Amino acid sequence: MPKKTRILAGILIVALCILNANIYFAEGEPQTEQTTAVESIQPEETDIIIPVLMYHNIAENYSASTDGANITPKRFEEQMTGILERGYTPIFVADYYNSVERGKPLPENPIIVTFDDGYLSNYKIAFPILKKLNIPATIFIVTSTVGATAESGRVGTSHFTWEQAKEMQQSGIIDIHSHSHTHRDMTSLSPAQLQEELRLSRYLIEKNLGKNCYVFSYPFGKYNETTSRLARMAGYRMQILVNYAESGQDYLANNTKSGIEHFTRLTVTGSQTTEDLFKMIDTAVENTKKLDSSISQ
Ligand SMILES: [Zn+2]
Repeated sequence: MPKKTRILAGILIVALCILNANIYFAEGEPQTEQTTAVESIQPEETDIIIPVLMYHNIAENYSASTDGANITPKRFEEQMTGILERGYTPIFVADYYNSVERGKPLPENPIIVTFDDGYLSNYKIAFPILKKLNIPATIFIVTSTVGATAESGRVGTSHFTWEQAKEMQQSGIIDIHSHSHTHRDMTSLSPAQLQEELRLSRYLIEKNLGKNCYVFSYPFGKYNETTSRLARMAGYRMQILVNYAESGQDYLANNTKSGIEHFTRLTVTGSQTTEDLFKMIDTAVENTKKLDSSISQ
């Protein structure tokens, strides 16, 4: 090897070592990390398309005015049973992250179930159903309203407590991450407010649940460059958006080839039957394939 090349190679190796050390330093070791047991493996596959479902509250008193935020227990269970019967393998959001960033294999036909806000019904109704069906789900919580009850007047719908959150996290079926501290539109906040929202929420989750919190779900799906940058600085390695099909956007899923940026979710509404849900998922997958082929052309 000529001397110049040797020097360059040496510099490159040193730079890579520093970079590697920094990555480990920045990320730290997860205290506990929820991941789904992977049975069937897709080796060397880089473009796996994954639909992600977003739920909120589960309640008997369904009304059309809260269609995007409420689903009845019966319908929720039908949908969960339906996705298994259709051959999907539910995984955690963390599994997607670990696949894209760390090359961990994904199962066949993955799908992701998520909840936003941290409602008590997630613990009382969804958790037993998910446990029974062995469906892993990711819940993004608003840390200032953990344990707040509707009776107290602080919130319209009761939220689960830290004890309940811990029980779910420790069950291995639920993985909890952040949906901010006070659920405000993050794009409307000052940098100082933003930092508090991001850091306090992450701190409380890590302290109360003894786990590494590194995924952030934007309230109302609203984000911009500043929120993204500050979220990364606050230790979030993945940021979650919402697919607003009702305001003209196409339904979309996620392609592992596109990485962890713009990770999006489909809003499941209380009026959707399992068939409607499958139609939405199929449209999202088709749209994602089209989008990816138009980008790669
Ligand atoms: Zn929310």
